[in-house]
Amino acid sequence: RCGMTDSTLIAILPGDGIGPEVTREARRVLEALDLGLRFEEAPVGGAAYRTSGHPLPPETLALADRAAAVLFGAVGDPAFDSLERALRPEQAILGIRKHLGTFANLRPARIFPGLEDASTLKPEVARAIDLVIVRELNGDVYFGAKGRGTTPAGKREGHDLMRYDEDEVRRIARVGFETAAKRRGKLCSVDKANVLETSQLWRDVVMEVAVDYPQVELTHMYVDNAAMQLVRNPGAFDTIVTGNLFGDILSDQASMCVGSIGMLPSAALDGAGKGLYEPIHGSAPDIAGQGKANPCAAILSAAMLLRHSLGQDAAADRVEAAVAAALGRELRTPDMGGDATTAAMGEAVLAGL
Ligand code: ATP
Ligand code: MG
Repeated sequence: RCGMTDSTLIAILPGDGIGPEVTREARRVLEALDLGLRFEEAPVGGAAYRTSGHPLPPETLALADRAAAVLFGAVGDPAFDSLERALRPEQAILGIRKHLGTFANLRPARIFPGLEDASTLKPEVARAIDLVIVRELNGDVYFGAKGRGTTPAGKREGHDLMRYDEDEVRRIARVGFETAAKRRGKLCSVDKANVLETSQLWRDVVMEVAVDYPQVELTHMYVDNAAMQLVRNPGAFDTIVTGNLFGDILSDQASMCVGSIGMLPSAALDGAGKGLYEPIHGSAPDIAGQGKANPCAAILSAAMLLRHSLGQDAAADRVEAAVAAALGRELRTPDMGGDATTAAMGEAVLAGL
């Protein structure tokens, strides 16, 4: 990464499938706020491979570097499934996260009024969900030494090293405490300290960081219990901070509790203001080009961008309220059981602004 960033420039990387359809609506919402932002688009994923022969061209990375924040659609195109791994569209998201050094993944999960029926939980349990999972994104078992071999007895063997150092834990713990401090002031650190050395280090470091946040109430929970509590009494959670592997599993679990995948935004933050914002859903090739995609996850990702990269909390609140208002008017795309189009849903959010 080099050069200066432009505090008014937003990079839009629409990507593949429904990516362009949902980022279009999110961009219109950002434009309507009249914050003096500028937008530049660049291709990524299969769309970039088609025009340049690479899913993450240097020009796209250069735009991401110059911009204050990146709004990302989705990547993935079945037409390129037979390409070698490095050229597949999906590699673009891993590559850009690594390039930007985004180590903290924020996934809020809350249920919008009227969507309780779409949850896998009982409506009265679902209604109480308003939590955010802060997942470490750059370490853990995903990035430790891996290998396959043969045991002395001639059996096939495989291993993946789970590893964290204290600096990696400290910086994600800080994001967890900062997030909790701005919410309801409750942080639950999830680990498996009864069996894992990495988790014991994690717990030690989290408790050290806690000294700087006396206003935050810290608890610790083993991941197996956390998985159980997430479906038993999710309303008890405010902010969860956890490692890469546990966060991967728990955030998918939490997302099912709030109904449609088309409602869930995410942020990947570098700790210094730069962030990449994207819906948690993929490129959804099965519905691409049909105007059926729910743009709310992309629009709510834009709200996270306003909050976490631009410090525009009031504007972010307005966007979230406009989404809630649109849903309150019984407007639903097909994933939520209605027949509204992507554009109609976007229009309704704009009207709510
Ligand atoms: P990825 O590997 O990129 O996460 P995936 O294979 O997990 O992709 P998605 O692309 O997220 O899958 O799609 C999963 C299902 O959810 C599909 O049936 C898709 O149509 C649906 N879906 C995803 N996003 C949306 C959306 N925004 N609106 C409506 N339906 C969606
Ligand atoms: Mg997926």
